Amino acid sequence: MAYAYDDQNIFAKILRGEIPNDTVMETEHTLAFNDIRPQAPVHVLVIPKGAYVTFDHFAADASEAEIADFHRVAARIVAEAGIGPGEGGAGYRTLSNAGEDAVQEVPHYHMHILAGRPLGRMLQPA
Ligand code: AMP
Repeated sequence: MAYAYDDQNIFAKILRGEIPNDTVMETEHTLAFNDIRPQAPVHVLVIPKGAYVTFDHFAADASEAEIADFHRVAARIVAEAGIGPGEGGAGYRTLSNAGEDAVQEVPHYHMHILAGRPLGRMLQPA
C-alpha cells in the first residue's frame, strides 16, 4: 500500500513557513530544528523537505541526493554538538517512530537526535 501524505501535518506547516521553528540547520533537501518538548538537553528533529511519512517511505522513494543530504545534516549536527563518541563525545541516540505501535505523532518522517544525559536502555520491557 502506498503512503498517503497529509499536508496539514505540523511539520508540513513548518516547512511552508506557516508556523515558526527553532532551526538548527537547513540545506536544500533537509531541515533540522529543536524539539518543542525536549526529552534531553540535546533533542533535535531532522526532517526531509519532501513529503515522506515514515523512514521506510523516505528510504524507498526519496532520491539519492535527498537521502545523502539528510544523513550528512544529521552527521553535522552530531559533530557540531560534540556528542559523537568518535570525537570524544558522551554519545547520542537516533530514533524514528513509524505508525501506531511506535506512537508516531507527526506523520512526516523525522529522525530524533537525543543526547546530553544518560539515555537508558533502548526500550523498556513490554
Ligand atoms: P513522534 O512521536 O516521533 O512523531 O515525535 C514528534 C515530535 O515532534 C515530538 O517529540 C514533539 O515534541 C515534536 N513536535 C511537535 N510539534 C512540534 C513543533 N511545532 N516544533 C518542534 N517540535 C514539535
